[in-house]
Amino acid sequence: MTKHEILKQYFGHDDFRTGQEELIDRILAGQDVLGIMPTGGGKSMCYQVPGMLMDGVTLVISPLISLMKDQVMALKNAGVGAAYVNSTLTLEQLRLVYRRIREGAYKIIYAAPERLLAEGFVSVMQEVKISLLAVDEAHCISQWGQDFRPSYLRITEFLGVLPYRPVVAAYTATATEFVRDDIVRILGLRDPFTVITGFDRPNLSFDVQKPKNKTASLLTFLRSRYEKSGIVYCATRSNVEKLYEELTKHGISAAKYHAGMEDSERASHQEDFSYDRKTVMVATNAFGMGIDKSNISYVVHYNMPKSVEAYYQEAGRAGRDGSKAECVLYFSAGDVTTAKYLIENGSENEELSPEERQKVMEADMARLDAMIGYCKTTACLRGYILDYFGQPHEESCGNCTNCLSEYVDLDITTEAQMILSCIKRVHAHLGYSIGTALIVNVLRGGKVRRVLDMGLDKVKTYGVMVKSDPMQIRAYIDHLEKEGYLRVTQEYQTLVLTDRADEVLFRGETVTMPVKLTPAVPEPPKKAGRPVKGKTSAALSAVSGDAVPEDGLVTALKAVRLRLAEEENVPRYMVFSNAALEDMAAKRPHSIEEFLNVSGVGASKAAKYGAIFLEAIAEYEQKEE
Ligand code: ADP
Ligand code: MG
Ligand code: ZN
Repeated sequence: MTKHEILKQYFGHDDFRTGQEELIDRILAGQDVLGIMPTGGGKSMCYQVPGMLMDGVTLVISPLISLMKDQVMALKNAGVGAAYVNSTLTLEQLRLVYRRIREGAYKIIYAAPERLLAEGFVSVMQEVKISLLAVDEAHCISQWGQDFRPSYLRITEFLGVLPYRPVVAAYTATATEFVRDDIVRILGLRDPFTVITGFDRPNLSFDVQKPKNKTASLLTFLRSRYEKSGIVYCATRSNVEKLYEELTKHGISAAKYHAGMEDSERASHQEDFSYDRKTVMVATNAFGMGIDKSNISYVVHYNMPKSVEAYYQEAGRAGRDGSKAECVLYFSAGDVTTAKYLIENGSENEELSPEERQKVMEADMARLDAMIGYCKTTACLRGYILDYFGQPHEESCGNCTNCLSEYVDLDITTEAQMILSCIKRVHAHLGYSIGTALIVNVLRGGKVRRVLDMGLDKVKTYGVMVKSDPMQIRAYIDHLEKEGYLRVTQEYQTLVLTDRADEVLFRGETVTMPVKLTPAVPEPPKKAGRPVKGKTSAALSAVSGDAVPEDGLVTALKAVRLRLAEEENVPRYMVFSNAALEDMAAKRPHSIEEFLNVSGVGASKAAKYGAIFLEAIAEYEQKEE
C-alpha cells in the first residue's frame, strides 16, 4: 500500500495537509523528524500513516490519557490493530495487552511516559521490533514548555535500553525556539528533518478590549451574534458559574463547563453545545482538549489567559472550518492579579521537585509577561503572536483591532506631570513607594482605608485626577513605564520614578501617547441588533447593552438610532454617540435651531437626522401627557 492509499482507505482523507507528506516520507526513509504544527494541524497522521507502512510496531508517547483512549478506539474502528498502556488498565488487562503485543497483534501502541521504565513494559518492548518512536506533545520534555512533565525525560533512558534505536519523531504545537532546541537536545534527535507549518490563521480576527463593564459588553457582543456559536473562556470556575447565571438570566442560550461539575452534568452541557442546542459555551480552559466543533465563530476571553500559547490555542478553536471568526480578549488589571495568583498557587504537578517548581514558575511568569504585552501593544496583534512563535509576517495584517484602528498621538503631558508628581510626593511623604492601584486611588481622591491611614489625602496631588477613569489612568501609567519615565519594581510591584521623569516634571518635556480613534473590529453590519419595533423599554436597553435602567426618552432615541444605523448599514455611533442622545434627551429640542444646540450635533447631521429625532421627541412627550 502507498501512503495515499492508507490515508484514503483507513482515514478517509483525499490529500495530505501541509507538512504531513514530507514528514512521513522522511520517517519512511529512516530519518528522525520534528513536526511543529498548530493544534488541529493533523499531527497524528504523521506517525500513524508511516507506522502502518513500516514493519514492526510504532510506539506513541502521549501525556493525555483520555485522548489516548479515543485515538486507539478510532484506529480500531478504522481497522488498525492498536492498544494503549497506562495507569487506567487493571493488572489483568495489562497482562493481556502485553501478551497480545508479544503475539504481534498491534501496529500502533500508545503509552504514558510514566510507564516507560516499568519492568514489565521494558521487557516486552525489548522483545518486539519498535520501528518508530513517536513523541506526541513533545514540548512536555522542556522545563520552558507550558506543561513540563519530568516523566518525559525517561524517554531518553528508555531509548537506551532498547536493543537498537528506532526512528524518533517528535511533534508539538509549541514553537518557541527555546522549547524547540530543548526537544532536539534532550530527546537526542539525530539530524532531524524539521517542518514548521504556518501558525497564521488568516480567517481569525483579533481584538483586545478593556471594557469598563465586561458583562455588559459581552451581552452586547453576544446579542448581535445570537445566531452564531461561540466560546467564552473565564479564568476560574466561580467566574464561569457567575457569568453563566448572568447570561442565562438575560436570555442568552448558554451552556457551561468546568472541572468542578458533576461528570454527567458536564457531559450534557457539552452535548448541548456540540449539537447547537445552546449557542454559547462558558468555560474554563478545561474545555478544549479534543473539541473539534468546526463552526465556532467567536472565542471571547473574559479574562486574560496565562500565556500566549494558551491564548492562541484557545482562541484557535474558532473558525476551524476556515470561515471568518472573531477572537476577542477582555483585559482588565485584575486579570493580571488573578493570573499571578494562579501561577503562584497553580502548579500542583507532584512530579516536580522544589527546584523544578521554582523554575517552572519563573518560566510561567515570563510567559505571563508576554501575554500582558499582547494586551497592551498598539502594534498588529497577529504580528505579535507570530513573532512570539518565531514566524515572519507582514507588518500589518489588516484584520485585527490595532490594524483597523487609527491611532493619533495624544499630548498627555499634563496627565503625565500629575502622575509622576503624585508618585514623587507619595514617596516623599511615606519614605517608600506604593503600587499602581493605590496611586490611582490617590490621584482620584479615593477614600479607601489604606490611603487615609497612610495620610495620603494630605499629599498635594490627592484628587487631581478625580474626573479620570481609573482604567485610563492605568493606561497612562503603563505608557509612562513603556517610555521609561517610571518603572515597576520586581519584588513588590511598586512604582518608582526614573531620572527621565525629571525631564517632564522640571524641564518641559512633552509626552505623547498613541490613542485609538475608531473602536474595535467593526460590528458586523446589518444584523447588529434584533428588530426593535414593539419591544419593551427593558428589552430595548438590553439591546443597547446597558446594564442600568435609563431615561425612557434616551431609550426611545436609541431605538431611532438603531433603525437609522441599520437602514444605512453603519455602526450606531456613526449616527449619534450615546452622549449625544443623552444630551438630546436632557435638552428636548423642538426646532432645528434647538437641535443644533445638542452636543455632538453638527449642521450636516442636523439636516440629515434632525426631523426624525424631533418627531420622536414630540411623540414621546405626547405619550407622557
Ligand atoms: P493535532 O494533533 O495536530 O492537533 P489531529 O492529528 O488531532 O491534530 O488532527 C486534527 C483533525 O484533522 C482530525 O479530525 C483529523 O482527522 C484531521 N486531519 C488530519 N489530517 C488530515 C488530512 N490530510 N485531511 C483531512 N483531515 C485531516
Ligand atoms: Mg495531537
Ligand atoms: Zn493586525
